Amino acid sequence: MTELCRLCGGLATERFRHRVLDKYDARYSECASCHSLQTEPPFWLDEAYSVLDATPDIGFMRRNLLMSALTAEALRAAGIGPDDLCLDWGAGFGLFCRLLRDSGFNFHAYDKFSQSRYAWDKRIQNPAGIAPRVITAFEVFEHLPDPARDLEELFNFRPELLIFSTEIYNRQAPDWWYFDPPTGQHVFFYSRAALEWIAARHGYRLVFLDPAWAFVRPESPLQAGPWVQSGLDSLLHELKSDPWRWVGRDYEAFLAARRAKAPSPEP
Ligand SMILES: [Zn+2]
Repeated sequence: MTELCRLCGGLATERFRHRVLDKYDARYSECASCHSLQTEPPFWLDEAYSVLDATPDIGFMRRNLLMSALTAEALRAAGIGPDDLCLDWGAGFGLFCRLLRDSGFNFHAYDKFSQSRYAWDKRIQNPAGIAPRVITAFEVFEHLPDPARDLEELFNFRPELLIFSTEIYNRQAPDWWYFDPPTGQHVFFYSRAALEWIAARHGYRLVFLDPAWAFVRPESPLQAGPWVQSGLDSLLHELKSDPWRWVGRDYEAFLAARRAKAPSPEP
């Protein structure tokens, strides 16, 4: 059975099936043009996300620590400063946003499905009209039910950098852990060629940040590099020299906002 690729519109042919959410027999089809793999149109997403907090994400802490170090260092290399608006798209609990603020970057959190508890004071409810210089989207793309349309939404911000992570599909066996049929949330798997295709379509360069990736506007100086290692070195240096700088700053801002909302009674 063939269907159209939800990224490039090419013809996709069934490769195998999995039981999604342990109840739906779903087709996984590979695109002959961009060589990505997609589930059949995912009608089960409401159900998949209704159990979001019950779904174990074992790699959550480690991924956030490594990606925050990598991102901070890549942003420094790209000339992004503390006044530049940065947006973490699909922020989840908001931990990544908080970690980047602690490293001195003006991050905000956006998530359609989560209150982003670690960054609730920096949540953006509706990002329409804002102009972030940087967007990050870690472990988001594989969740997009309609990647052509959903990525268009991200690129419409025309960020200078769009840093993201997703595992690359390269005809892995059906038991590859990243297909993750029990949770039903991973519904599109991008080949390297597909990422290049997305970059070209939107006028960006694709840069491998090992293990993350970035879509970079042509004029940005950001290049491939060992960003995790140098990021961890910088983070250690920062923690030893001035560990509470933005923590204190954001806490003061929170207190000021609370005072403004509910003035304390006159003594
Ligand atoms: Zn395709």
